[in-house]
Amino acid sequence: MATAAHPPFKNIYHLRRVAEASQKPCVVCYKPTSVVLVSEDGKNDFFYVCQTHLADRGFASPVVNAAAEAAKRRQEELEKEMELVKKEWEKRQKTKKSDRDAKAKERRNNKDNDKKAEQEELDAQKTEDRRDKGEHREQLRKLEEQKEEAKTKAEQEQRVFHLNKDIYGMRVNNWRNIQRSKRTAELLRKPGGLPSVPMRSPGDGSNDTPTAPASP
Ligand SMILES: [Zn+2]
Repeated sequence: MATAAHPPFKNIYHLRRVAEASQKPCVVCYKPTSVVLVSEDGKNDFFYVCQTHLADRGFASPVVNAAAEAAKRRQEELEKEMELVKKEWEKRQKTKKSDRDAKAKERRNNKDNDKKAEQEELDAQKTEDRRDKGEHREQLRKLEEQKEEAKTKAEQEQRVFHLNKDIYGMRVNNWRNIQRSKRTAELLRKPGGLPSVPMRSPGDGSNDTPTAPASP
């Protein structure tokens, strides 16, 4: 039967991107998107979808891809490194503070404390703090940049997906509906393609009732 026609595409979809100006509404949320999933054969099915839905396993699952996996691992490593850098920074700040507190206490206990030398030291500390803070921020900024690059690469390398079976079922139904519409349009274009309304008046012919099959 035509309605049960087997679709000419498998549940393997490739991600393509169109230009910003060619964005179309996402099938899930209707927001404009430039991501298109195209059936593996490259022509029989395609639809627009936001990149974010592709991370949802209820919608699609990525087909394992070495380059995407590597980029994703890199992203995770960088995330861990950033956490480590932040923790080390906090630790260093604590050590610095306790060292300085100890020094200040020592100075208070010392009767021949040189006020000028003390002020110079405090100024030097301020300069050191400013420099440390600048370096720390710069280090984090670079890591953040690398992490974003890895994330983008992971997304871009991930170009093959399996759809969730219900979503694939919807695509197949959609394809069948299109086939039906196409057939109807074809029949309408072709003279005599559609059965015409009988022209004879009722009761004047012998062909109105189908012939019953002969009994054995
Ligand atoms: Zn969407």
